Amino acid sequence: MSLRKVHTAESIIEIAHLRNVLEGAGIACFVRNERLAGVLGEIPFVECWPELWVVRNGDALQARGLIDAARDAEVPAGADWQCERCGEWVGGQFDECWRCAPGEP
Ligand SMILES: [Zn+2]
Repeated sequence: MSLRKVHTAESIIEIAHLRNVLEGAGIACFVRNERLAGVLGEIPFVECWPELWVVRNGDALQARGLIDAARDAEVPAGADWQCERCGEWVGGQFDECWRCAPGEP
């Protein structure tokens, strides 16, 4: 076995969600520090953060890809975005800025 840590997060909820994603893809994984999460004590804070590990080293790359995709998906679709050229806020249903978009002379 070759264990690989693929993600660390402050939130055990996020880690549990990502574990479900990996298990759904058939990747064997487990969580470390699950029970320590939220325990206040003398352990440095970051060392308490729950960690997601894969059991097989060869799964690490795919696992990271799935994690990235899962975390991106948490950004709500259709969120407003800000135009880089004029700073205008544009509704998420539009692909381009209504102020900068070519069209009307
Ligand atoms: Zn614009």
